[in-house]
Amino acid sequence: MQIREVVRKLQPYVWEPSNEQIALSVGLKPGEIVRFDTNVSPNPPSSLLIKLASQLNEMRVNEYPDTSYTKLRRAISNYAEVTMDQIVVTCGADEALDMAAKTFIDHGSFAVTSSPTYALFKIVTELMGGNVKPVPRLEDFEDDVEGLLKAASTESRVIFLCSPNNPTGNISRRETVVSLLSEAGCAVVVDEAYYEFSGRTVVDLTKKYDNLVVVRTFSKAFSLAGARVGYMISSPETAGMLNKVRPPNSVSVISLLLSEAALNDLELMRRNVELIVRERDRCIKFLEECSGVKVYPSHANFVLLRFEKGGAERVYSRLLKKGLVVRCLSGTPGLEGCLRFNVNLPEKNDLLLEALATECG
Ligand code: PMP
Repeated sequence: MQIREVVRKLQPYVWEPSNEQIALSVGLKPGEIVRFDTNVSPNPPSSLLIKLASQLNEMRVNEYPDTSYTKLRRAISNYAEVTMDQIVVTCGADEALDMAAKTFIDHGSFAVTSSPTYALFKIVTELMGGNVKPVPRLEDFEDDVEGLLKAASTESRVIFLCSPNNPTGNISRRETVVSLLSEAGCAVVVDEAYYEFSGRTVVDLTKKYDNLVVVRTFSKAFSLAGARVGYMISSPETAGMLNKVRPPNSVSVISLLLSEAALNDLELMRRNVELIVRERDRCIKFLEECSGVKVYPSHANFVLLRFEKGGAERVYSRLLKKGLVVRCLSGTPGLEGCLRFNVNLPEKNDLLLEALATECG
């Protein structure tokens, strides 16, 4: 049996361990574990589930879904203010990124990233036999436009941006995206998984630029991470190309119903976003009063912290022993001393803030 060279050499995505695994490693019960590391919503969308329950009887799970996802694309087209032929529905934003790599990356070509950023950009590129050129971000994690353009000038097929950026929380400036779109000559994929928390988007630029692909998801603001629904928005011509590599039935009828229901109740999503943003700002304000820790501003549902005298790994382990799971990023270039936590319910955030305040002394 022969395994592809790129797969043998691949550094795969580091899956988050389960509550059971974490509990076992620190001698707690699974119910005592509180997650701040997965960037999902703490509020299950109960009203959507009740609606789904009332429709279960008539659900044609014996049949494939409508593979052109017409109903959902119509709802997304109203929400995002684009035409239906600009939309490609995917099984989460991660499948969208995988499809973008399949569409743009040839063996031996390059993708450019503004580093540090979402780990999957590198993985999907390498799986296609491409390589990533990471361009370090500037002060306060701003994109280095000149650096990105320079890196994109040879054999580069795509620039991956993430706005708001996971894990730094800042957004890419609109003028940065416009410069890259007009000057780089390759595709620009903007991952807007956390868009709803910032309200800032470049979707409208898809009407002008054929080389722009915006990636979105129902996993964050819409509280549907477990349903696995995402989508891409681009020009109709580019959407046609992306559609060529789309697996025919990767979104289930159940997930389609849930995401359609979510778009029919935008108030529910907006209330969720409001709660999270309010809690995020409360956490940031609290931590700004603590000594020895730098708190970065955030346009997303998570916050990045830097322990100025190091010791982030130690803090991470001590939090873990209390059942509080954050993401330790200290090993990532540019993020030395950094931890990231997602905003949770107020009483859970209180637990984390109290524990962090103890660490700051
Ligand atoms: N993009 C970014 C920037 C993310 O942080 C995540 C979630 N980890 C994803 C995409 C994946 O989203 P989905 O659940 O829709 O696959």
